[in-house]
Amino acid sequence: MDFSQTLIAKSDAILDQWVEAVYQDQQIEATNELTFKAVRDSLPRVLKALATVLSESETSDLQTVVDASLEHGTLRAEQGFEPAEIAREYRLLRFVIFSFLEEDLLQGSAQEVLRAVRLIDTVIDEAIARCFNSYTQGRLQELEQLQSQLRLTNQELTRLVRANKDTLSHLAHELKTPLTSIIGYSDLFLRQHREQPEFKDTYSNIESIERVLRNGRLLLRLINDTLEISRYDAGAMKLHPTLTNVPELINSVIEMIEPLARAKELSLVVDCDRAPEQVTTDPLRLQQILTNLLSNAIRYTEFGSIHLQSWTVSQQQWAISIIDSGIGISLDAQAQIFNAYFREITVPQVQSSDGTGLGLAIVSRLVQLMDGEIKVDSQLGKGSTFTVILPLEAIVQG
Ligand code: ADP
Repeated sequence: MDFSQTLIAKSDAILDQWVEAVYQDQQIEATNELTFKAVRDSLPRVLKALATVLSESETSDLQTVVDASLEHGTLRAEQGFEPAEIAREYRLLRFVIFSFLEEDLLQGSAQEVLRAVRLIDTVIDEAIARCFNSYTQGRLQELEQLQSQLRLTNQELTRLVRANKDTLSHLAHELKTPLTSIIGYSDLFLRQHREQPEFKDTYSNIESIERVLRNGRLLLRLINDTLEISRYDAGAMKLHPTLTNVPELINSVIEMIEPLARAKELSLVVDCDRAPEQVTTDPLRLQQILTNLLSNAIRYTEFGSIHLQSWTVSQQQWAISIIDSGIGISLDAQAQIFNAYFREITVPQVQSSDGTGLGLAIVSRLVQLMDGEIKVDSQLGKGSTFTVILPLEAIVQG
């Protein structure tokens, strides 16, 4: 029994029903912007290729389906389809084909029916895989372009940050929305990729998306950090002190930062035994201080460990030290590290690191706002200790 004849004979009707189903499916949103003709566009080729394969023996190669599906995938990428939408589109095709073949299938022997079902499934699965492949290529090209745009914007923003601080705050706000969507979109793309290992692409392609993400995140951080600084300088940064459990807060920061340390095989050692149980402080700002200091400690340390210690200094004060065994800071640089945009690059492997030169500038401003002080003690090649001393009771601002 040759089911391909039915497919060919009824191909117009199948196509119409398929396009209609794709068009009607609420979960395929990409079609909202497209005309009927645009949705139908490369579908006839895919269907014809499927029929051709079905009409030949089981061993026939799937090249025609492969080619048609690659072309279809490219088109769908251009049309802005999401991978899940493409998969849905093929699921609908499977459904439509079976509903058209039902009558013929009922007349065939069990063996013939099984063979036909298996063949149709194999061919459609192959079509989905190929379609995904070319979709991925299309998307990757788009991401590559985005990446080079981001790099330019990054350079431009850095120049502006240095040259003109007044218009910066406005500009940064303007840039934040597109950036957030770029990052969200790339993130989504990567997640879908990981979840569907059968469509996993080559390592270098994944790498290029990771690069876009890294650049996007760095740019976003630069903007956010710059906004923080300008907010502080404009006197607009306010503290919201509440009763805060110190060991709990420290542990939550450590949990957050731990994967960074693990990635560099650095151990994180926490000693809170002599820390005050509770203080009155702004917990979010304190978290920000600790996160910045700990991520610096990890960023500038290649071997050894990072220690965090906390203790009560007096009846009015308590302290936290973050001690690393990293590259250290020269005496000259120690005088400048709290200035915005200062970066001391002495070690080649750190040159490509993801710093902005704003982390410590923010930390020192926050510490000042909290009526505290920050000290650094460091030796080149040996490591650094940053100590923050804070009041046990933050003064509530009027
Ligand atoms: P960045 O984003 O460059 O890390 P920061 O303001 O946080 O910006 O730090 C400014 C500079 O201080 C860094 O570029 C680095 O040279 C130096 N620095 C900060 N923390 C450390 C550390 N723990 N060890 C060595 N150098 C550090």
